[in-house]
Amino acid sequence: MRLYRVSSPQEVRQAIRDNFSALPAEVIDLEQAGGRVCAEDIIAPEDVPGFNRSTVDGYAVRAAETFGAGDTIPAMLKLTGEVRMGEAAPALPPGSCVYVPTGGMLPGGADAVVMLEDTETLDDLVNVFRQAAPGENVIRRGEDIAAGTVVIEKGRLLRAPEIGVLASLGITSLGVIRRPLVGILSTGDEIVPYETKVLAPGQVRDSNAPALGEIARRKGARILYGGILNDTQPVFREGIKTLLEQVDFLVLSGGSSVGTRDFTAQTLQELAGGELLVEGVSIQPGKPTLLARCLGKPVLGLPGHPVSAINIFSLFGVYVIERLSGYREESYQPVVRARLSRNIPSRAGRTDYVRVKLEQKNGMVYAVPVLGRSGLLRTLADAHGMVAVPPESEGVQAGKDVDVIIWE
Ligand code: AMP
Ligand code: MG
Repeated sequence: MRLYRVSSPQEVRQAIRDNFSALPAEVIDLEQAGGRVCAEDIIAPEDVPGFNRSTVDGYAVRAAETFGAGDTIPAMLKLTGEVRMGEAAPALPPGSCVYVPTGGMLPGGADAVVMLEDTETLDDLVNVFRQAAPGENVIRRGEDIAAGTVVIEKGRLLRAPEIGVLASLGITSLGVIRRPLVGILSTGDEIVPYETKVLAPGQVRDSNAPALGEIARRKGARILYGGILNDTQPVFREGIKTLLEQVDFLVLSGGSSVGTRDFTAQTLQELAGGELLVEGVSIQPGKPTLLARCLGKPVLGLPGHPVSAINIFSLFGVYVIERLSGYREESYQPVVRARLSRNIPSRAGRTDYVRVKLEQKNGMVYAVPVLGRSGLLRTLADAHGMVAVPPESEGVQAGKDVDVIIWE
C-alpha cells in the first residue's frame, strides 16, 4: 500500500481555487438567466426611474411654498391638475399643486409631495397642514440605478432581484457563464443500476450517481451519467477517458479506497497532463478523496460510501461547480445556530462532520445528533444538517451552541 499525503479542507479548497476557473460565456435571454452567473459587468444604459416619482398619493408641490405650514396655519395652494399614470405630468404654475398618485411622475418644478392625509381640499383649493421638506416622498430620477454605473458585476449569481434590475433597464439578453456539464461515473463490481428490480447476492444498487447528480443539479450544473465501471484498471482508464472528454468536471464514486485507489490515482496521472492535487482529506466521513486535474479539467474521486460521497461532494464538488460557474464570491452555507442536546465525541486532527436533527422546544432550537453507524445512508436522510467539529477539538459538550450546516 502506497503512503499518501492528507490535505486539510482549506488546502483542498485552495487547490480548487488555484487550478480551476470559469468556463466560457454564452448569451441567453433574460428569462432563462435565473440561477446563472453573470459573465460581464452590466453597465446601466439609462437611469431608473427615468423620471422623478412620487412614493405616496398626494399633491406635488414646491416644498418652499409649504414652509411654515402647520396644524393651525395651512399653506393654501391652487389645485391646477392631476398626474395620470404613464403620462407626462402637467405643468406646476407657482402657488399651485397637482394631484399625483403613488408612482406618478412629478411635474417640472415640483420637489416634494404632501400626503393626502396632511391636506384638506375645498373645490380647487388645497390646504396643506404640514410643511414638506425638499425631496420628501419623492424617488429621484436615477436614484435606484444611475446611468453609467455597474449595476451587476461579473460573477454575480442572477436571482430574482437581479433579473428584475435587468428587466427595469430593458436588457433582454446577456452573457452568462456556461453551465458546467458534470459527468458522474460509479465504480465497483458489486454496483448495479438502481433500476435493477431484484438484486443478486452481493449486489448493491447505485445510490450515489442519482444522489450526487441531485446535488450538482441544484447547484445549476447539467449531468451526464456515465454508468458503472468494473474494478479493473483498463476499464477505469477507458471509462474515465471517454466521459472526461465529454464533460467539464468528472466525478468518480468509489475507486478511491484501498483496493482501487492506486490504479485510480495512476489512471488520473496518466491522462494527458494529469496531475494529482489531493490524495486524501482530513475529514470524517470522507477521508479517501482524490482530486486531480486531467485534460485541464477537475476530476474528483469520491469514496464509495454513500455518506462519505455525499459529504465530500457537498463540500468540494459543489465548490468545483462554483468555480467553473464563475462565482465571484464564495457562497456562504446557510447555518442555523442551535443548542447541542448531547455530547459529541470527535478525534483531534481531522474535521468531523456530525449529522444532527433540529428540534424546536420552548422557543429554543436544539441540535440532536442522529445516532447510528456513520456509514448508513438512512442517518443522513434523517438529519437536517451537519455540525463540523474542527480538527483542534476533541468533541463538543451538550448545552453548547453550534452552527448547523443545513442540507438544502
Ligand atoms: P469503495 O469506495 O469503492 O471501496 O466503496 C465503499 C463502499 O461504498 C462499498 O461498500 C461499496 O459497495 C459502496 N458503494 C460504492 N459505490 C457505491 C454506489 N455508487 N452506490 C452505493 N454504494 C456504493
Ligand atoms: Mg468500490
